Amino acid sequence: MNNSSPWIRRLLDKPENAFMCAVDMSYIQDKSNLVGLEEMVPEYETAVRFIIQDEIPVSSVAADFDSRSTTELVYGLVHARYVMTPRGVAKILEKYVAGCFGQCPRENCKRSPVLPIGLCDVVGQNTVRIFCPRCMDVYTLQPGVRAAAVDGAYFGTGLPHMVLMTRPEYIPSRPEGRYVAKLYGFRIHSSAYDLKRNAYRQILKQPSGSTSKVTSKITSTNRSTTAGSPATTNAAPDASTIVSSTASDRIPHMVDMIKTHRRAMLLKRY
Ligand SMILES: [Zn+2]
Repeated sequence: MNNSSPWIRRLLDKPENAFMCAVDMSYIQDKSNLVGLEEMVPEYETAVRFIIQDEIPVSSVAADFDSRSTTELVYGLVHARYVMTPRGVAKILEKYVAGCFGQCPRENCKRSPVLPIGLCDVVGQNTVRIFCPRCMDVYTLQPGVRAAAVDGAYFGTGLPHMVLMTRPEYIPSRPEGRYVAKLYGFRIHSSAYDLKRNAYRQILKQPSGSTSKVTSKITSTNRSTTAGSPATTNAAPDASTIVSSTASDRIPHMVDMIKTHRRAMLLKRY
């Protein structure tokens, strides 16, 4: 922070910029690092002067120049380049080790520290996200995190990988084990949800009349199974045997079907 301007220090003092680091003044002053910015921000030179000098004569600023938003935009674009340099990687790594970017929300990652990442390198598309090096996945920041509003392009899509590729000693081990879905202590087969979803879609595709026959059969089968007595299909229909014809009303009957069909095949003893 010592090698930065008052403007940068004020910017980084804001909680919403907690993920960003201080770009070295020497990096900003080297015009070779700013090549191409003029195409993205026409007033970038004025913005750079704001960043370096903090205050510049009003007469030298265009009347329609929005000093705050334009200067922050230029700093963000420079920041995205800087963090890919060895010096920038070192600063990001320092914050990563300190846990400044938060922790992975995945249970099996055991609160592993994360790195900031952008989903797109173009400004204005997405806000910053977090990347977990342990499970190698990207997550949205929790509501209420002030830094979540910063543009993801200020970090770029390659930042975590640049950090870990240049400093492999910080690559964490892969998470041990993974979540196992169970129901009443029985492991759910990996294909169970696909089978149920496909069966549900088939029910929705069927005409109302044929659906009524199917669901009537399912309901009567379910009643005989749960009651432990002979089928009661000849009995007068009660509320549980009323067959609906609309798609939304078929959902309860799908639940009946899930209970009575293929249970043995879908559930494996863990
Ligand atoms: Zn993780």
